[in-house]
Amino acid sequence: MTVSIWQADDKQSVYEVDFLIVGAGLVGCAAAYFAVQTGRSVVITEMRDIALGASSRNAGFMITGPDTYYHRAITEYGHDRARELWALSERTHRIWRGWIGQFDVPFDPCGSMLLAESADEARELLQAARALNADGIDSEFIDGDPLERGYFAAVHQPNDGGVQPYALAQAAFRASGAALIANNEVYRIEQPDAERVHVYTRQYRFEARHVLLCTNAYSPALHPYFAGKIIPTRAQCLVTAPLSESVMPTCGYSDYGYMYYRMTFDNRLLIGGGRKDYKALENDTTDDRITDPVQRYLDAYLRDKFPDVTAPVERRWAGIMGFSVDGLPLVGTLPDMPRVGFAVGFHGHGLAFGAGVA
Ligand SMILES: Cc1cc2nc3c(=O)[nH]c(=O)nc-3n(C[C@H](O)[C@H](O)[C@H](O)COP(=O)(O)OP(=O)(O)OC[C@H]3O[C@@H](n4cnc5c(N)ncnc54)[C@H](O)[C@@H]3O)c2cc1C
Repeated sequence: MTVSIWQADDKQSVYEVDFLIVGAGLVGCAAAYFAVQTGRSVVITEMRDIALGASSRNAGFMITGPDTYYHRAITEYGHDRARELWALSERTHRIWRGWIGQFDVPFDPCGSMLLAESADEARELLQAARALNADGIDSEFIDGDPLERGYFAAVHQPNDGGVQPYALAQAAFRASGAALIANNEVYRIEQPDAERVHVYTRQYRFEARHVLLCTNAYSPALHPYFAGKIIPTRAQCLVTAPLSESVMPTCGYSDYGYMYYRMTFDNRLLIGGGRKDYKALENDTTDDRITDPVQRYLDAYLRDKFPDVTAPVERRWAGIMGFSVDGLPLVGTLPDMPRVGFAVGFHGHGLAFGAGVA
């Protein structure tokens, strides 16, 4: 979105605050919680309303670990870093679980299964399981198809689960005690001196001592620093009508993470992903409308892997993830504005890392 000169002419009233957070998604709300703990006044400004970005559009998989299988993470990031990432993810889940318990957020501790769509992927999963077990991480390799749906092998991670992500973001916000100003897009940020940051929004000009950008996929539109570092990437889901019985006992995740499926709390089958063959269409966009090729792919997956499910598809949606170049969250301060920090680029894994990074 953008802000026209008619909507805001830079003469908005001044709003002073210690700590301003931009973006009321899972990460912004979690950051607000920790900022309030320090005794500062904290405001979140949000261009839409609470969690209407990726945080209420995701599949709700609370899966431990990074976006890539564990042995690959060791190769890519080094062993110490891979272990740290795992610990950060466990810490994130502990924080979410605290709010899940406190605010009765729907959560199913059903574990997760990484599933192999091919013999090659089964070999990868075996390596992943060995690497996990070598680091003392609770997981089990299953040779064969535990779901009897045409998979080749699985890794069961018993400590994962499925959450209602919109309810979780609202719980994080309620836990924080921060103020929220919705419908209030930021269109310019300036740091005139060492102490203060001016943040121009539709309704106010904030004068803040510290600013944290939790704007994930939308960050490149806010500051050129993020150009080429954060790639907005569309992800899509569908759900069927409620089923008479569950057809997925766990959160399933396959094709190297490109496909995912679980039951919702009202017993619908949710299937998401399907963008692997459509990257040119799905990458580098903040348009959160669904697209035909991906939805057709999800329909075909439903027919192929769940032929026993005859209920119609009742809802389809899309959301925008913030992909980073190395697959890890991007955290730091803007080079030209040291009082402006950022925690963005959650790469389709905000439920794995969001609260811990915040
Ligand atoms: C379809 C789909 C499925 C997914 N499935 C999973 C999953 O199962 N598990 C998992 O861990 N992750 C999943 N993800 C990723 C997960 O949703 C994100 O990693 C997470 O929500 C990121 O949270 P966030 O707060 O950083 O971003 P967001 O929720 O996108 O929040 C950013 C907020 O910033 C606001 N904003 C942006 N620019 C401005 C501005 N200029 N002024 C004011 N406000 C602004 C936006 O409106 C938005 O509310 C999925 C994502 C999608 C789209």
